[in-house]
Amino acid sequence: MTIRLFNTMTRKIEEFKPLVPGKMGFYSCGPTVYWDQHIGNMRSFVNSDILKRMFIENGYDVHHVMNITDVGHLTSDEDTGEDKMEKGAAREKLSVWDIAQKYIDSFLRDIDSLNIIRPTDMPRATDYIPEQIEQVKKLQDLGYTYEIPGDGIYYDTSKFPDYGALGGQDLSELRAGARIDDTGKRNPTDFALWKFSPTDKKRAMEWDSPWGVGFPGWHIECSAMSMKLLGPHFDIHVGGQEHIKVHHSDEIAQSEPIVGKPWVNYWVHYEWLLSKDGKMSKSSGDFLTVQDLIDRGYDPMAFRYMLLMGHYRQPLDFSFDALDAASNGYKSMVRKVAELLSVASAETIDNATFNQWHDKMLATISDNMKTAETLVLVHELLRDTSVNSATKIALFEFIDRLLGLQFIDRAKKLNNAESETAPAEIQALADERAAAKSAKDWARADELRAQIDAAGWSVVDTRDGAKLVKKI
Ligand code: AMP
Ligand code: ZN
Repeated sequence: MTIRLFNTMTRKIEEFKPLVPGKMGFYSCGPTVYWDQHIGNMRSFVNSDILKRMFIENGYDVHHVMNITDVGHLTSDEDTGEDKMEKGAAREKLSVWDIAQKYIDSFLRDIDSLNIIRPTDMPRATDYIPEQIEQVKKLQDLGYTYEIPGDGIYYDTSKFPDYGALGGQDLSELRAGARIDDTGKRNPTDFALWKFSPTDKKRAMEWDSPWGVGFPGWHIECSAMSMKLLGPHFDIHVGGQEHIKVHHSDEIAQSEPIVGKPWVNYWVHYEWLLSKDGKMSKSSGDFLTVQDLIDRGYDPMAFRYMLLMGHYRQPLDFSFDALDAASNGYKSMVRKVAELLSVASAETIDNATFNQWHDKMLATISDNMKTAETLVLVHELLRDTSVNSATKIALFEFIDRLLGLQFIDRAKKLNNAESETAPAEIQALADERAAAKSAKDWARADELRAQIDAAGWSVVDTRDGAKLVKKI
């Protein structure tokens, strides 16, 4: 099936053509492991997961590389500010290495709960220091660098005529509008490739290099690790839209002099998840994690479902009202799938109908990752009385592979939960609640419902009286 994607470089939706038939290699900028990743970050990882699943269902062998940034880069794009890893270490009174491990572990836990397929490779920047030094040396030999004494080795963007093409930036305007500063940079868009350690203090992370002890600039790790693991040219590079103007423009400026042009064939950028004051971010302090959502009783799949209702190129507002609506929608779909499961085994799959729906859904998502439109088709399928239950279940197996929403898993859990008998103490609470209701003691009845709820059970009032259902 044809796959089409919006390529930031050409600003057009283009048909995807692989470098090697049947294979797709992509690189995504991963987490900086100095703190928990918030649900805004998770939007970008879910988008990459959908991209990957879409290619897999189209028969591609996908190689996904996502870096782990564990070198302490500085908090601003301008190579100034505090070191993020050292900041995290001071905050928690741990070593920078322990901070990195702690937040790699929590990141993996979060992506697993969101059913994100783990990348093929997850290289840590600190394991690729020699490769980064090697690339800086090459750029130096090619004449792209200069030294700012006491500061570091910088990339001279005036030597790279295409600088800024990704963001559609006009370099002469950028230069004309820039303030003259005292950083010693030749051009405002120049960036650090290697920073020197301060002479009066030892940094928590530093390495020897031909230019003295120091640490790599932020951008070089992505150029070094992507080329090492995906080869000198690869198909797709993805990331959040804030990376277009600086981080990804710098990656291109570093890589194309080394490997030739174009280094990457398609650039895909994701829009943000917004909280009430704009982009959800760590620096604003106003952020939520996947664990926060779980602690509030939400199924991570409800959050994933909410994300898929938006398009990756559009900003998405996060609110608990929106999450509640998504959660109700997701639960009612799971309930329908649970009903289908209980009758499906007695029927046979209708292959023609299966293929028709399968192709329609795959074509929809393959057209620039239209997840919301694909979900509309899933709703239509559930409503379509002409499709038998066995065919619908077979299609839901495909939908689960494509969208990763775990409908069948949750439906099975729901069916098991409904057939489970409540333990005697929970039954006793339910009986007491029934008695309180008959006595019109609503406050007591509510109190008992809350107790039952806290113990992991729900009371569902049916025509035949109250039923206890284990929560999933
Ligand atoms: P960081 O750990 O800050 O480097 O971010 C990891 C990834 O999350 C990057 O690809 C960012 O572009 C992305 N990201 C950060 N904030 C948001 C947000 N509010 N919405 C969507 N993606 C985001
Ligand atoms: Zn990157």
